Amino acid sequence: MIIDCHGHYTTAPPGLKEFRDLQIRALTDPAINPSKASVRISDDEIRDSLEGAQLRLMRDRGIDVTIFSPIAGQMAHHIGNAVTSQLWSEVANDLIYRVTQLYPDNYIGVCQLPQSPLVPPKSVIPELERCIVELGFIGCNLNPDPSGGHWKDRPLYDRIWYPLYEKLVELDVPAMIHVSGSCNDCFHHTGAHYINGDTTAFMQFIQSDLFKDFPTLKFIIPHGGGAAPYHWGRYRGLAQDMGKPPLAEHLLKNVFFDTCVYHLPGIKLLLEVVPTENILFATEMVGAVKGIDPETGYHYDDTKRYIDQVDSLTETQRALIFEDNARRVYPRINPILDRIVARKEIAHG
Ligand SMILES: [Zn+2]
Repeated sequence: MIIDCHGHYTTAPPGLKEFRDLQIRALTDPAINPSKASVRISDDEIRDSLEGAQLRLMRDRGIDVTIFSPIAGQMAHHIGNAVTSQLWSEVANDLIYRVTQLYPDNYIGVCQLPQSPLVPPKSVIPELERCIVELGFIGCNLNPDPSGGHWKDRPLYDRIWYPLYEKLVELDVPAMIHVSGSCNDCFHHTGAHYINGDTTAFMQFIQSDLFKDFPTLKFIIPHGGGAAPYHWGRYRGLAQDMGKPPLAEHLLKNVFFDTCVYHLPGIKLLLEVVPTENILFATEMVGAVKGIDPETGYHYDDTKRYIDQVDSLTETQRALIFEDNARRVYPRINPILDRIVARKEIAHG
């Protein structure tokens, strides 16, 4: 089975943005404050938004299942306050839930958290719990910088994050480190802010002893781990200078990378530097980089092609990247995949 661990609902029907626009306007005009019930999106609109986009690309590229979450760039935790983020997250997560109900064989949910700058992260626990327990989601996107490029909050190893980590461990779900849009002009959102966020989180994990306190806590650092694999020697050396154990022992039981690296040399480097046990297949389509690479004639985000081209991988290693690591990092995916397999067997007689 081919599992894409990183997809966002970037093609969501216009009713979602209409709700959000109204919610943002209501910050200065409380009289128009929209309710959750005011979201107008039909099942047909959801089907149309996927059939011609994500789902078609998944079928074309041989991807069976996508671990699917709300549009990362629009989480925009810096807009409004914690109440704004709470309602917006509920609306965005409920829409992902509807996708998982309409396409239970193709999509499995991951939630947006109602974070807000300088608000203690424990405030997001009720929405996390609702999504995992009631909606059947298997993980969350955790924004290390809810201020959107101004880095106002405490680093990820600070004890202020611990109540959330305790809940993640209790629910047995991982968090994907994922910043949102940048409201700092210095940082282009997907080109700089995303990659900075990934790299910054990785360094924060190195600096700390977080995984001594939470030996089973798991994070996925997307976009191939930001700059970390390319600069692996720097990070090993920094850890060594800080008196930390080797990275394999210090964080590789807890930190995983995805394959959202949009060219073959980058994927080769990732595979050479990072143990295969720590790499999960992902595309982050549709959206981060939409175009076709004129050098190959294929979409940049068709990341399966790059992995298929690496001859040195054994079949066991391919299975780890495409399926087995996702099953280990997202334990709650296993019963869902079992049900998908059972339905396919019945369908094929
Ligand atoms: Zn993403």
